[in-house]
Amino acid sequence: MRIALLPGDGIGPEVVAAGRTVLEAVAERFGHRFEFEEGLIGGIAIDETGRPLPERTHELCERADAVLLGAVGGPRWDVPGAAVRPEQGLLAIRRALGLFANLRPVRCRAAALGASPFRPEHLAGVDFVVVRELTGGIYFGDKRLEAVVDGERATDVCSYTTAEVERIVRVAATLARSRSGCLVSVDKANVLETSRLWRRVATRVVADEYPDVELQHMLVDTCAMKIIQQPRTFDVVVTENMFGDILTDEAAVLAGSIGLMPSASLGAGNGPWTRRGLFEPIHGSAPDIAGQQRANPIGAILSCAMLLRYSLGLEAEAHAVENAVERTIEAGALTADLTVAGGRVVRTDEVTAAIVAGLGGAVPDLAPACARPLRREE
Ligand code: NAD
Repeated sequence: MRIALLPGDGIGPEVVAAGRTVLEAVAERFGHRFEFEEGLIGGIAIDETGRPLPERTHELCERADAVLLGAVGGPRWDVPGAAVRPEQGLLAIRRALGLFANLRPVRCRAAALGASPFRPEHLAGVDFVVVRELTGGIYFGDKRLEAVVDGERATDVCSYTTAEVERIVRVAATLARSRSGCLVSVDKANVLETSRLWRRVATRVVADEYPDVELQHMLVDTCAMKIIQQPRTFDVVVTENMFGDILTDEAAVLAGSIGLMPSASLGAGNGPWTRRGLFEPIHGSAPDIAGQQRANPIGAILSCAMLLRYSLGLEAEAHAVENAVERTIEAGALTADLTVAGGRVVRTDEVTAAIVAGLGGAVPDLAPACARPLRREE
């Protein structure tokens, strides 16, 4: 089974290395053979080849059974008016592989709740999935910057077709069917034409093809409020590209840290989605902590669990990784983003080692690994 690794920029290489270590441990424990091949993407690809997605990286992903990506971007490449930008690499690989469905699970784990600003009893049992449309909407529409009499005018076009809405609603409804049977579709139908189309198509697809799924429509502003107020009431949420991007960063606050959040991006197949997918934590390149072993690797490692489940069909292995993550968090192996004031801060590689130990069913023993715990301000 071939896995393409695209570390990217900032903390990307650190968290992808952690993911690879866990996948290698899974291969050893369950008797599989995974072949890894690395490719350039983002800022580092611009530096080395002049392009954010070199052709070699695209070919590597086309040949792979699954792709694990870190993150792209950083202040070095954040030059206003630059013709090439790291994010173009990410958008290009999603488009090239036809990855239109982005699954973002939001789960509150009891042992990590100390890092959340909410009361633990408010968060207990929160477990929902946001299905974000990934290749349409305003991020992919025409962009224009032009001079006008009193300055400049910027325009970003947002568009969706019936077919684009149908296929993402099918992914979400299929997922909802395998969970509680409840689906919330989020839009801004009181203002946006794209949202009115979205609402009509979602209503028809669910009524015609998923009569057993209960569909509720919700405006994005209401949803932003309810995710905080009543997070337990959500199970599967489907929404367009930008709304999904923003709502899932908001939801990360419930879970305790953005560093915990995984994602899977899937394409169109015979069923609602293809096997080959791209898996990445939802966080960015976090340049403020890059290269310091301070990055939380759990978002990337849980992305590997999704890779095992969706692309390689290895459910037991995926489950083993998720259990090892639970045990590691419960054992208190927490990076700085999850540590309460005065608590012990554990390094990226030590969290990874604890998860690998937990894969064998052991409760991770952190004492020997953490010879010199970092302090929060280090
Ligand atoms: P970010 O997600 O990189 O960081 C936001 C905050 O969360 C920072 O304080 C960071 O230290 C912290 N954080 C993020 N991931 C963490 C982890 N795994 N462990 C511990 N703390 C973590 O978002 P940003 O600062 O807005 O963006 C930084 C760069 O990343 C920008 O260039 C942006 O364009 C890019 N970006 C890339 C992606 C992607 O590659 N998918 C997504 C978002 C942002």
